[in-house]
Amino acid sequence: MKTIFEPFRIKSVEPIKMTTREEREKLLKEANYNVFSLKSENVLIDLLTDSGTSAMSTDQWAALMKGDESYAGSPSFYRFEASVKDLFPFKHVIPTHQGRAAEQILTSILPGDTSTQIIPNNTHFDTTRANFENAGINALDMVIEEGKDPALDYPFKGNMDLVALEALLAKEADRVPLVMITITNNAGGGQPVSMANVRGAKEICEKYNKPLYIDSARFAENAYFIKLREEGYQDKPVRDIVREMFSLADGMTISGKKDTFSNMGGWLALNDDEWAEKARARLIMTEGFPTYGGLSGRDLECVAQGLKEIVDEDYLKYRIRSIQYITEKLDAIGVPVMKPAGGHAVFIDAKSMLPNIPALQYPGQSLAVAMYIYGGIRGAEIGSFMFGRQPDGSEKPAQMELVRLAMPRRVYTQSQADYMIEVFEEIVRDKDQLRGLEITWEPTSLRHFTSKLKPL
Ligand SMILES: *Cc1c(COP(=O)(O)O)cnc(C)c1O
Repeated sequence: MKTIFEPFRIKSVEPIKMTTREEREKLLKEANYNVFSLKSENVLIDLLTDSGTSAMSTDQWAALMKGDESYAGSPSFYRFEASVKDLFPFKHVIPTHQGRAAEQILTSILPGDTSTQIIPNNTHFDTTRANFENAGINALDMVIEEGKDPALDYPFKGNMDLVALEALLAKEADRVPLVMITITNNAGGGQPVSMANVRGAKEICEKYNKPLYIDSARFAENAYFIKLREEGYQDKPVRDIVREMFSLADGMTISGKKDTFSNMGGWLALNDDEWAEKARARLIMTEGFPTYGGLSGRDLECVAQGLKEIVDEDYLKYRIRSIQYITEKLDAIGVPVMKPAGGHAVFIDAKSMLPNIPALQYPGQSLAVAMYIYGGIRGAEIGSFMFGRQPDGSEKPAQMELVRLAMPRRVYTQSQADYMIEVFEEIVRDKDQLRGLEITWEPTSLRHFTSKLKPL
């Protein structure tokens, strides 16, 4: 069947305010051509991120009422902890307000002089990189070669280059406090990591006595890809695949704003008692008491319920299929898309779509601007605008110039997807007229969020 069956029905709706192209041109100018500066009420289809934008279920709304806001020992915490441990078999679970807080705490407890350290990852997510670099750590990306070619169809493009990992540890083991793997590989296109790859990384880590941490935001989407693509997993429930993968790790950081269907949340989980003690001390200083961390009791309930829903395979089938659907349609009208489709987003290769715009005039940002003007669609640039500024102050082109259309979970319908395709038909028609941009102001880090730009 071609129609995607959305395995839910709509119980509460949020109206979308319609805008004209003329209005959008004016609004974007006022936002200094940075789509992060737009008011969301002026966006028709908001694909800026899938983070914190999920539609909650009736059971999650009901769970909110069970939220117990006791400062210490709330039953909501114990439900949260049980739900986390059911999927992720770690000894200590430390709630944080979102993923980057877990990353910050992890960074703060690393033993030794961080300014001499190196942390390898398939691809560091931007906040992970920023937290590590802020402590002087060299955040090294080590995705496999296949993962760097947007057009190449390969089942596990998020895999870590294990040869490079082994070589690093053979030479520099003393400088590596831990090894990290991000599933799915967000900055690298939402591409999955195979179980075999995580197992391989674990073996190397064991050889050099290094803990393996998983940056886990999209663990369920990754597990579903394993079920679809990795030999031996076709008959395994997604829940078991998740447990198997995390039993290979020593700890995890996670943003609860993705695959837990929650608007806020995150945690750090780990096995090491000493690290956990330090993490809790830090948590009290920066987030809150260990039984709520950075979250209210109702948020903990919402995450606990979301974790039960996310491993539902009817949902995951709809989820992965809807991303594929948009990817295939864009491909068919000549938009260069990353293949195969990732788990949470469609990635457009702006470098090959707009070859006449140089990397440091931000072809991805130019496409993001066009998407908003033509159709009120908001997407995010992941390229030289996001990654171009180097720690030493120089600027260099990123490996890829991508635009990410991140799909909020359970939010948009197939007919809204069809509208998006029509908008892209118009952009493709006019693509030779699109222009690059220059930055007129930028902050010292994470510049894509607040920079101001103007068209050239
Ligand atoms: C979103 C995300 C983070 C950061 O989490 P926040 O909740 O946004 O702070 C870290 N890593 C990955 C892979 C992510 O997708």
